[in-house]
Amino acid sequence: YKEELKKLVNEKTVTTDGHHVELVANIGSAKDLVGVKENGGEGVGLFRTEFLYMESAELPTEEQQFEVYKEVLEGMEGKPVVVRTLDIGGDKEIEAIDLPKEMNPFLGVRAIRLCFQREDIFRTQLRALLRASVYGDLRIMFPMIATLQEFRKAKGILMEEKEKLIAEGVKVSDTLQVGIMIEIPAAAVLAHKFAKEVDFFSVGTNDLVQYTFAADRMSSGVSYLYQPFNPSILNLLKHVIDSAHAEGKWAGMCGEMAGEAIAAPLLLGLGLDEFSMSATSILAQRKLIKSVSKADMEALVEKALDCATSEEVIELVKSTVKM
Ligand code: PEP
Ligand code: MG
Repeated sequence: YKEELKKLVNEKTVTTDGHHVELVANIGSAKDLVGVKENGGEGVGLFRTEFLYMESAELPTEEQQFEVYKEVLEGMEGKPVVVRTLDIGGDKEIEAIDLPKEMNPFLGVRAIRLCFQREDIFRTQLRALLRASVYGDLRIMFPMIATLQEFRKAKGILMEEKEKLIAEGVKVSDTLQVGIMIEIPAAAVLAHKFAKEVDFFSVGTNDLVQYTFAADRMSSGVSYLYQPFNPSILNLLKHVIDSAHAEGKWAGMCGEMAGEAIAAPLLLGLGLDEFSMSATSILAQRKLIKSVSKADMEALVEKALDCATSEEVIELVKSTVKM
């Protein structure tokens, strides 16, 4: 089976009726690129930059970050690289930043919210990214966006840093895409408004499921509520993907769901353009997607959207698709 998968390393991911999707990887450092290549990743769909900040007791400098982003972009040789700006807080802490103690850290000062409180940290990261942007196909993604004002503010700060760099004579890519993670229900529901202003969406199902079901993703007591296949989630995904397409934008997914076998038929049917997962899941997902037709998966998802429970959806997929 492993040998069979290995043959797919350099193949495109195309359904039996000719629909093409991108299978890309989630990474946490430049070292992970080896695995991305070995497993046929067509790019990076999520670079979690937190590790840069967790490595030492001090904040990474602009120069240190620039070197890492450049290395990743050059390593991917012009293929797309989506870098997520700092997503600290929630369960993740770092020594260099004194986070306030909160009752519900997952609902508190986390990710973009923290970056707005510590604009110095945010601007340093954005400058490093902008400087690195000329070394490949960089796409910048903001995490935990809940409102359009937040997106506009984050993008405004990015544009300010871009103008400053240009005034300093530094080259910055002019094809840089700027997108958001969809991981808060408010943003998913309002995706048709966001789609007019962003370049892309990437759905973070780990958090989107957590916030939709009001169930802490770290709590084993409520783990039964981690239900990515619940029709509530599928209906949110449909709205997000349709909204992106209505504005000519692309929609990806970088939560764990994107790498799950049961999810592939559903996400294909919904029209997801980009699937980002741990590198080791890519080839199996490619094999599965190449074995089905988009038209059949559209018919399947039509039924799934009308199901009442996760169990019904899972049963439906298993009885329709061989895996
Ligand atoms: C997600 O929330 O699905 C996601 C990809 O981000 P993280 O797991 O880093 O919160
Ligand atoms: Mg998340």
